[in-house]
Amino acid sequence: MTVVQNDLVIIGGGIAGLWLLNRLRNEGYSAILLESEKLGSGQSIASQGMIHGGLKYALGGTLTGASESIADMPAHWKKCLAGVGDVDLRQTGLLSDAYYLWPRDSMRSRFNAFLGSKAVRGKATNVAPGQWPDFFKGNIKGPLYRLHDIVLDVPSLLANLSGNCRDWIHQVDKRQLDFTVSADKVTTSISADLQIESKRLVCTAGAGNEALLSRLGSRSVSMQRRPLQMVIVKHNYSAPLYVHCVSDQLTATPELTITSHPCSDGSTAWYLGGELAETGALLDQAAQLAAARAKLSNLFPWCDFNNAQWHSFFIDRAEALQPGGKRPDNCSIESENGIYYCWPTKLTLAPNLANRVLMQLHKEGIKPQGLVGQPLRDLPFPGIATPPWEFP
Ligand SMILES: Cc1cc2nc3c(=O)[nH]c(=O)nc-3n(C[C@H](O)[C@H](O)[C@H](O)COP(=O)(O)OP(=O)(O)OC[C@H]3O[C@@H](n4cnc5c(N)ncnc54)[C@H](O)[C@@H]3O)c2cc1C
Repeated sequence: MTVVQNDLVIIGGGIAGLWLLNRLRNEGYSAILLESEKLGSGQSIASQGMIHGGLKYALGGTLTGASESIADMPAHWKKCLAGVGDVDLRQTGLLSDAYYLWPRDSMRSRFNAFLGSKAVRGKATNVAPGQWPDFFKGNIKGPLYRLHDIVLDVPSLLANLSGNCRDWIHQVDKRQLDFTVSADKVTTSISADLQIESKRLVCTAGAGNEALLSRLGSRSVSMQRRPLQMVIVKHNYSAPLYVHCVSDQLTATPELTITSHPCSDGSTAWYLGGELAETGALLDQAAQLAAARAKLSNLFPWCDFNNAQWHSFFIDRAEALQPGGKRPDNCSIESENGIYYCWPTKLTLAPNLANRVLMQLHKEGIKPQGLVGQPLRDLPFPGIATPPWEFP
């Protein structure tokens, strides 16, 4: 039996686990990450890559907890992209340095967006028509707001984060994982002849935290799922588009959220989320694709989608349980018996989550020893998950 020692073991290599691994190692903790599939396999690779400052949460005009906790995040990530932040993201692709918000042609939705822009303290600017993206010029009446949000290429983000700590990330068979928790350590068994002893175990397995909570016998921590049916459309219109379309309903979710992603066949895919994806979770795929077609034709009558390729898939957002199943306002860390159960809630909030884990370690008197730790040389690197816009 080989037993290796590390300060922390992280289970799950989505954005939460990878960001945390980078922070812990930068701070001098010996930490190791175990992933059962490819990195980012759950929500992270499926995310739209928007690093937002919360305006979409302020659409009703009120500064909610969510919009407050998220407001400084684009600036934080920009520092990391420039190589002067708490994690080095210089190898991450930036798809767009701005995001647009288009209130549809009604007084109520304009008002809604206007209030939202005030609620995030001027972090949105009303763009003069001459400066609109070509896609909108001559086709809409406006107004059009420019948010200071950014959109990242998520596959390159995952490659960057994992590349920074490649020796400390391993693929494991989750059916073989076993855990023994005692007063001063957690033992993670990877196979019959390999164990890791650590001071703390951190579960950042997204929806996989549900099975871990049950396996580890948690009594006080629970998670929730909020389902989506996302849609991808590939068409002849090559201009990338990054926009929230705000409906004339007073809801906190944009009726449609569009991001654009380069595909390996040279095409560009539009990735459709927002309210369309939330209501679509209750539809079958044929009905959701029909709803998406109707929505795009209605919003953009100047575009021809006749030869487009359409695809949809179901996915759950996994988060700490909230009263009434509501969207959490921030990331979550729940500590129980030497185990931290973590959910970032948003890709955007992964830096906040890592800060909270570090604060919890300090609170519990677990200081970095400046040790490198012991890697598991015989276990493979998991590789990066394939993004959903690469559908066959
Ligand atoms: C469709 C969609 C779009 C989104 N768009 C955005 C956006 O634009 N901006 C934003 O800020 N947020 C967005 N989000 C939210 C964001 O993507 C998630 O909050 C975030 O990715 C969650 O990251 P995670 O690391 O907790 O989980 P995940 O990304 O789900 O990663 C969990 C990892 O754990 C692994 N795992 C599971 N069980 C085990 C186990 N037992 N052992 C080992 N490994 C295990 C999985 O294989 C997976 O790799 C979006 C979410 C969805 C679903």
